[in-house]
Order: sequence, then structure tokens, then C-alpha cells
Amino acid sequence: MPKPLEKLKNGIALTKEDFLWILEKQEEKGFRETLQEYALQLRKKNFGNTIYIRGLIEISNYCKNNCYYCGIRRENSSIHRYRLEEDTILSCVAEGYALGFRTFVLQGGEDPYYTDERLCSILKKIKQNHPDCAITLSLGERSKDSYLALFQAGADRYLLRHETATESHYGMLHPEQMSWQNRIRCLQQLKEIGYQVGCGFMVGSPFQTKEHLANDLLFLQQFRPHMVGIGPFIPQGQTPFGQYAGGTVEQTLFLLSLIRILLPQVLLPATTALGSLEVGGREKGILAGANVVMPNLSPKEARENYTLYDNKLSTGLENAHSLQALQESMKAIGYEIVIDRGDAPGVLEQQKR
Ligand code: SAH
Repeated sequence: MPKPLEKLKNGIALTKEDFLWILEKQEEKGFRETLQEYALQLRKKNFGNTIYIRGLIEISNYCKNNCYYCGIRRENSSIHRYRLEEDTILSCVAEGYALGFRTFVLQGGEDPYYTDERLCSILKKIKQNHPDCAITLSLGERSKDSYLALFQAGADRYLLRHETATESHYGMLHPEQMSWQNRIRCLQQLKEIGYQVGCGFMVGSPFQTKEHLANDLLFLQQFRPHMVGIGPFIPQGQTPFGQYAGGTVEQTLFLLSLIRILLPQVLLPATTALGSLEVGGREKGILAGANVVMPNLSPKEARENYTLYDNKLSTGLENAHSLQALQESMKAIGYEIVIDRGDAPGVLEQQKR
């Protein structure tokens, strides 16, 4: 077996050259299938045929940032802005709970309306109402004090994609006011506080090279996140990158398999972006090694306006029927959605000690 793959299989740290070698092989016939097969073995060993679901609630599309790729960037004046109040969020959670969700992800733009005070109140109430649930936040960059307050109020996990591990590439995707250093610092702080942390990146983002991807993989190997969110970049017409080419399903699947092998116990969603690009995209993601899906529990108004990119999949899960449809589509490919918080393996044991 070629050396980089041998290292990968034996849990030996790969070098940048190793990752580049693997990325170069992507187009070679049969190579992706080899990776996929091994990824599925590892997935089976660690998680059986279990799929965890996370109820995604998109709490606000106001954002103070201006990321060049993102449809809810501050300067996009053609979208209708909304934010969800506490009551609405709590009732989305209650509906999701009744359907069998035990993890809720509160995601949004960086909206200063959500002060620590407001968020802590929401977190505490969710935990009071549903003590057996996990709460994930995905609200961008905040101060360490804020992350700590939210953790103490009941947040268990935090998703903050690093977007790219190459500082110069980060500078091509974001305006000058945003800093790669700060993004990475936030991720480190989240981990120090004790969150289960997710990072990740877009596949095929503008100007992305194989070298950038190799750096992303090196970063994952070194940072060892509990969760990794990756999905294809999909252009949004009203952004500066509206006319750029998007990422592909194939490359996303390849990277999902590679990440499963690199971090066998990682929680790895088949993302909405993957499902938006192709009918059956999320199922393909599961078959590449992903083990999480994040159906949308947001109210209709929110789903319609949380437009990170064009043609976003927004079937919604407002009734038991659509969850059943998802269950059936996963069952058809041999997997089973479970009612479970689905923490990263080992994390709860560590916390008890
Ligand atoms: N404000 C939060 C949540 C951002 S939205 C934060 O900063 O973390 C979640 C993710 O959607 C982003 O991290 C980004 O990677 C992804 N995203 C944004 N625009 C996208 C696009 N046009 N195509 C695909 N993914 C996109």
C-alpha cells in the first residue's frame, strides 16, 4: 500500500506532502472508492449504522460581517432580514423534541441583538424544558467571556468553521476587518472552555487550491475537532462571488471519506449544501462516511430568508411526515436515525471524571 495511505490507516501523522499526494490521486480511477470503502469500515466500527439528527434553527439573518461568499452578508440589501424571539425559538425546540430531536443547533449571522443576556436566558429555558438535550451554537466570533457565559448557561457544543487554514486564502474570502488569527483563537478558546467544537470549510471556495486543502487537513489533524462541517461552496447571486464556480459533489464526497479516516470518531454531517446541490446528495454523503444530518426546524419565514447561497434545500421538517421521509431515505441505504444526543465518543465519560 502506498505510504500516505498506510500512515492514514495506522493513525500516523501525515505531512503536507502526504495530503497533497492523496489530493492529487483524487481523479485516478478507483481511488475514491478505495478511500470510501475504508471510511465506511471505520464508520461502522465506531458508529454502526447509526445516524444522528440535529434540529437546525436559524435564529437570525442579520449579520455585521461582510464575507464575500455569504448571502446574508451585511451589504446584501436585497434580502428580507428577520430574527427569532425567545418564544419562537422555544417553540421550535419543543416541536423538534416531540419529533425525536435531542440536539438543537442555534445558528445565525453575527447579530449583536443576541447579547449574552438574551442568549443565556434562551439556553437556560431550553435546558429547563428539555434536560436531556444538547445545545449547539453557531453564532460566529464572540469574546472568550461570552463563550464562557454561554457554556455555563447550558451550551454544549459550538460550530465555527475555520473556513480555510491558509491565512492568505482567508484574506481573499473576507474583508480586511476580519482576521484569520482571531478565528483560530476563537476555536482554541472554545476548546479550552470545554465545548465540543466543530470547525470546517467550504469545498471549492473561490481561489481554493489543493495546497489550501492540504493545509485544512493538516489543521484538522492537529486541532482534532469533535465535529467537522464541510460542504460545497455554492454561489449566491447578490454577493461578490455570485459569478464564481461552485464546489462539486464529487470533491465533497472524497473529502468526507478522507476526514472520516483521518478522524474516525468525528461527528461529520452530510450538510444542507451537499443536499442542495444534488437530489440525494445527503444520502451520498452518508455513504461517503458522514454520520449526522441536520434537518431544518426553523419557521417558514426564517427558512425562506436564511439564504446563505442560491437554491438552498429548504423542505423544512414542520411535521412528523417529513422526518419520516428522511428516516425512510436513510433506511433505504441501510442506515438508521436514532433518538439520541449523539455526543462525540468519549466526551461524556471525560466530563464525569
Ligand atoms: N455566522 C456563523 C454561521 C455562518 S453560516 C459563523 O460565522 O460561523 C454557516 C456556514 O455556511 C459558514 O461557516 C460557511 O462556511 C457556510 N456558507 C456561507 N456561505 C456559503 C455559500 N455561499 N456556499 C456554501 N456555504 C456557505
